Amino acid sequence: MIRFENVTKRYRGTAKPALTDVDFEVLRGEFVFLVGASGSGKSTCLRMILREETPTDGRVVVLGRDLRTLSNRKVPYFRRHVGAVFQDFRLLPTKTVFQNVAFTLQVIGSSRGFIQQAVPEVLALVGLAGKEKRFPHELSGGEQQRVAIARALANRPQILLADEPTGNLDPGTSVDIMQLLARINAGGTTVVMATHEAGFVDQMQRRVIELRHGEMVRDERHGGYGDTSSLPSLAPEPERGAAAVAALTAVLEVQREAAIAAAAGLDPTDVPDDDEDAPAAAPYRDAVAPAPAPPAVPPAPAPMAADDVAEEPEGEASTPPTAPHTQSIPVQLTEVDVEELGLADRLGLRRDESDGDDEVGPTS
Ligand code: ADP
Repeated sequence: MIRFENVTKRYRGTAKPALTDVDFEVLRGEFVFLVGASGSGKSTCLRMILREETPTDGRVVVLGRDLRTLSNRKVPYFRRHVGAVFQDFRLLPTKTVFQNVAFTLQVIGSSRGFIQQAVPEVLALVGLAGKEKRFPHELSGGEQQRVAIARALANRPQILLADEPTGNLDPGTSVDIMQLLARINAGGTTVVMATHEAGFVDQMQRRVIELRHGEMVRDERHGGYGDTSSLPSLAPEPERGAAAVAALTAVLEVQREAAIAAAAGLDPTDVPDDDEDAPAAAPYRDAVAPAPAPPAVPPAPAPMAADDVAEEPEGEASTPPTAPHTQSIPVQLTEVDVEELGLADRLGLRRDESDGDDEVGPTS
C-alpha cells in the first residue's frame, strides 16, 4: 500500500540529507507509528507519501503508483485516496463544522445529496453530531482535531496520515483522538502516524518505524517507543500512565469489535470501491459503527493483507458509484476560501475540470 524503496531526500541548500536510504513497506490495514526526535525525517516521509516532496534517490510507491512518474495534474486525484491531519488542525475559520467537511466534497464536485448524507455520517463517526453549526473558534482543541479528521475522512481515503495529531492537545484529549484513530484503523483504513508521544506508542504495541537523523534505525511489528530518555516528559507521570492505559483499552476494545464483526461474517476491512467522481461511496456507519454489546471474545490481530497492491482491482476508476451522485453543485468560493485553496491543493481538493476523466486510484 505504501512502499519506500531506498529513499534518500536532500533538500536544496542543505548539507545533510533529510532521509538516507529509507526502505519499508506498509500493508493495507496497518497502523504504523513513525517515531523519532524532531528533525529526524518523519514529516518528510509523510510529505513524500502525499507527493508534496519527491525523493532525490529511490522510489515511493503508494496505492500501486510510483509517485515519481505521477504527473502533476494527477496529483490532486491521487490525494483523494490519502487523507491527512496535522498538529495545527488547519480548519477554515470562517466556515462551520459542517461547511469545513462539506467543503472538501464540494470542491471535488460531489452532489448535494451525497454531501448531505456523508457529512453528518462522518461527523457522527468522529463524535461531533450536534456541533455542525459551530465555528472552529467555538470548539475545543480536541473537537477541532475531530473536524480535521472528519474532513480527511470525508472522501473515504484508503490511507490516513497523521502528523503529530495530538501535539497540541492535553493528555486526556489526546487519548480520545487516539481512540478515534484506532477505530478508524479497525474500519480498514491504513493509518500512518508521526508522533513524539512515547506513552501511546508503548501501550498500543503497533508497528513502529523509528528514524534517527534521517536513517531508519528500527522497524518493529509490535514495538514501543524505544529509548525515551532524551524526550521531554509530556505530562506528569500518573496522568500519562492513565492516558496510555486508556489508549490501550480503547485499542483492545476496537480489536474485539473487529473480531465480533469477523465472527458475524462482516469484513471490517471491507471498504467499497470508489472512483474519482464519487469519492465517498458508502455510509460510514457500516464501516466503523461500534458493536452493540460488550464483546466477550479475545482480541483479534490488526487487520493486515499480504499484498495490498495485488489485491486492487484493475480499472477501479470505472466502477460505478454506489451512492447517489448525480447532481453536481457549484462551489461558492469567497476570497478567503480562494486563499485557503493552498490548503485545498495540499489535501488534493482543488478541482480541475480538464482533468476530470483521469484517475490515479489504486489500479495496480
Ligand atoms: P521531523 O518531522 O522528524 O521533525 P522533518 O522531516 O521535518 O523532521 O525534517 C528532517 C530534516 O529535513 C531536518 O533537518 C529539517 O531541518 C530538514 N528539512 C525539512 N524540510 C525542509 C525544507 N523544506 N527545506 C530544507 N530542509 C528541510
